[in-house]
Amino acid sequence: MQRIGVFICWCGSNIGGVVDVPAVAREAAKFHGVVYSAEYKYMCSEPGQEMIVSAIKEHRLTGVVVASCSPTLHEITFRKNIARAGLNPYMLEMANIREQCSWVHQHEPEKATQKAIELVRRAVAKAGKLEPLFESAIPVTKRALIIGGGIAGIQAALDIADAGNEVIIVEREPTIGGKMVLLDKTFPTLDCSACISTPKMVSAAQHPNIKIYTYAEVEEVKGYIGNFSVVVKQKARSVNSKCTGCGICWAKCPTKNIPNEFDLGMSMRKAIYVPFPQAVPNRPVIDRERCRQFVKGKCGVCQKFCPTGAIDYEQGDEFVTENVGAILAATGYDLIDWTKIYGEYGYGKYPDVVTGLHFERMVNASGPTGGKILRPSDGEQPKTVVFVKCVGSRDEAKGREYCSRACCMYTAKHAHQVLEKIPGSQVVIFYIDVRCAGKAYEEFYLKTLHEGAIYTRGRVSKIYPEGNHLIVKGADTLLGRPVEVVADMVVLATAMIPSAGSADVARTVGFTVDKDGFFQEAHPKLRPVETNTGGVFLAGACQGPKDIPDTVAQASGAAAKIIGLLSHSEIAGEPTIARVNEAICSGCLACQGICPYRAIEPKEIVERLPGKQVTRVVASVNSGLCQGCGACTVACRPGALNLKGFTNEQLLSEVDALCQ
Ligand SMILES: Cc1cc2nc3c(=O)[nH]c(=O)nc-3n(C[C@H](O)[C@H](O)[C@H](O)COP(=O)(O)OP(=O)(O)OC[C@H]3O[C@@H](n4cnc5c(N)ncnc54)[C@H](O)[C@@H]3O)c2cc1C
Ligand code: SF4
Ligand code: SF4
Repeated sequence: MQRIGVFICWCGSNIGGVVDVPAVAREAAKFHGVVYSAEYKYMCSEPGQEMIVSAIKEHRLTGVVVASCSPTLHEITFRKNIARAGLNPYMLEMANIREQCSWVHQHEPEKATQKAIELVRRAVAKAGKLEPLFESAIPVTKRALIIGGGIAGIQAALDIADAGNEVIIVEREPTIGGKMVLLDKTFPTLDCSACISTPKMVSAAQHPNIKIYTYAEVEEVKGYIGNFSVVVKQKARSVNSKCTGCGICWAKCPTKNIPNEFDLGMSMRKAIYVPFPQAVPNRPVIDRERCRQFVKGKCGVCQKFCPTGAIDYEQGDEFVTENVGAILAATGYDLIDWTKIYGEYGYGKYPDVVTGLHFERMVNASGPTGGKILRPSDGEQPKTVVFVKCVGSRDEAKGREYCSRACCMYTAKHAHQVLEKIPGSQVVIFYIDVRCAGKAYEEFYLKTLHEGAIYTRGRVSKIYPEGNHLIVKGADTLLGRPVEVVADMVVLATAMIPSAGSADVARTVGFTVDKDGFFQEAHPKLRPVETNTGGVFLAGACQGPKDIPDTVAQASGAAAKIIGLLSHSEIAGEPTIARVNEAICSGCLACQGICPYRAIEPKEIVERLPGKQVTRVVASVNSGLCQGCGACTVACRPGALNLKGFTNEQLLSEVDALCQ
C-alpha cells in the first residue's frame, strides 16, 4: 500500500487568505493511505522543499501530494524535489487550490475550504494509484529545417548556423527574401529594405552550414523531435547548376509581357526569369506554363544562347530526403484579397485603388516606376492620395476580427513618402485607431502628422470614379459629419492573413493552426515560439501579423530554442504517453484517425492459440510522436489505450473520491 504525504501550501495570502489551510491539512491526514500531512507558507521555497524531502525520508513516503498553485507553474519543481529524496518523480500528484479554488472563491472562504479538502481528497485517491514512470532517451540529429525563406527564416537560419549546426531552408518561390525585399523603406528608421535584407540573403547563401532549396516545398514529414525525416520536392527549374546567372537567356527569350509577380503585375517579365536582380540564388527558372518550348514544343532560344549549357528542358521534379532534429515554420503572410469582398471599393475594378504592397513597389527605386509614385491608370502623378486603414482587419463582417499590427505604421510611412516625393500633394488617412506601440513608432506617426497628413477618424463607405478622379466617401466620426474626398489614387492597408497553403504545411508537419489560420503557439505568453508538437517551432508572420522588428526578435528566439535542442546528443522523452494493451486491442484503428500527432500506426503481432499461431493487427504508439494529449484513449472502445500517468483506473479513482 502507498504511504502518502500531503503538503498544503498557503502561497502567502493567495491561498491562506481565503482557505483555512490548517483545517485542510488536518482533514487530509484522515484520508486513506495518508501517513503524513503538513502545511507551510511557501511550499516552493527552499525551506518548503526541504520539508518535503525530510518527510519523504523520515516517514518512508511512497507518494506525495502537493496542494498549491497550478501544476503548469510548479509541477516540474516538485517532481525534481521528490527525486532528490529518492522517489520516482512521477509519484507526485498536485491539487490546484489556488487558481481553481482560493482565487475564484475569495468571497466564500468556508466553501473554498471545503472545496480545497475535496480537491486534496481527489489528489490523494489518484496518488494511491500512481506508478513509477521512466523517461526514454531520444537521440538528436543536429540539423534544422526551416520552411520559408523570408526574413524570419533567414534570421533563424543564420543564428542556428552560426552556432555550428547545419540548416536547410526550403522556400517555395524561386528566391529567398519574402516580402521584405519587396518593400522600399522600413519604418520607423526608413532604412532601405533591400539594403538591410539582401546582405542577409547573401550571408545565408554563402554560409557553409546553410543549404537552400528554392522553388521547393516540403512534401512529407515523418518522425518526431530530434529525428524528423523530411521529403523536399524540388520543382523543376529547367535550369541546372551550371548556370552562372549571366542573364543572356532572359535577354534573348522571345516570350515577354508576362505579369511579374515580384512587382505584383505592375511590370512584365519573360518566360525565363529571375524575380529581381538581387535574387538569391541568381539562377533563373522557366515558367513552363508560358514558355513556347513547353507550350508549343518549339523555341529553344535560351538553350541555344546559354554559354554554359545550363538549360535543361527535360529536368523533372526531384524528391530529396533530409534528416533533421528540429523544424521551424516561417511561412509568413499574404494580404487578404479585398477585390472579392469590398464591393463598395469597386471589387478591384478601378486601377487607381491599390494595396500597400503595390505602393511599396511603386515607391521603390528598383520597382516598375523607378521610384515614382504614379497612377496605374494613366501614369500621372497623383496630387491627392487617400489611405484607408483596416481594410479587412478589425472587420468581423467582411474580413478578420484581428488587427494586422503593421498597417498603422506603414500607412504613416507611405503618407510621409507621398508628402516628401510629390511637392504640394495632399494626404488623407481614414482610420479607426492609430496604433503605434513600438520603439520610436509614436514619434514617427507624429512626424507624419506634422508634415501635413490629414488623419480622419472613420471608415470609408464608398469609392467610385468620377471623371479622372476617385470619390472617397466616408464619415468623420470625431466631428460627426460625412466626408467626401476627391482623390487621384487610393491605397488600401489590407489585412495580413496566413500565407496560401499554410494549413497544408501545418497538416504535413503535424501541428495546429488557430481560429484565423495562423500557426498556433504552445502558449501565447510562456511558449510563444514553440508549437504543441515537440521539435517544431515557429517564427514571424505565420504565427500572427507582425512587423520586421518583432519578426526578427521571434526568429532569434526560436533559433535559441532550436540551438538549445540541438546542443544535446540525447533528450529525455516524456513518459506520460499512450500505451496499448495489445491483449484487448481489436485492431479497429479508430485511434489512428483521431491522433492529431499521427503517433499511432498498425502493427502485426503473432499470437499463439491452442494448436495454431494467429497473426493480427493492433495499434502501436510511436513514443517519439505521442504528445500525451489522450485523444486516442477516448476513441478506444475496448479500453485498450491508456495514458500513462492518467490511466482509466487513476481517473476513475479521482471521480470516486469526488463523489464520496
Ligand atoms: C505594405 C507593407 C509594408 C510593410 N512595411 C514594413 C516596414 O516598413 N517595417 C516593418 O517592420 N514591417 C513592414 N511590413 C511587415 C513585413 O512585411 C513583415 O513583418 C515581414 O515580411 C514578415 O516576415 P516573414 O519572414 O515572417 O514573412 P514573409 O516575408 O511573408 O516570408 C515568408 C516566406 O515563406 C515563404 N513560404 C510561404 N509558404 C511556404 C511554403 N509552404 N513552403 C516554403 N516556403 C513558403 C514565402 O514565399 C516567403 O518567402 C510591411 C508589410 C506590408 C504589407
Ligand atoms: S541559364 Fe545560362 S544563359 Fe541563363 S543565366 Fe544561367 S548561364 Fe546565363
Ligand atoms: S487501440 Fe483501440 S481504437 Fe486503436 S486499434 Fe486498438 S481497439 Fe481500435
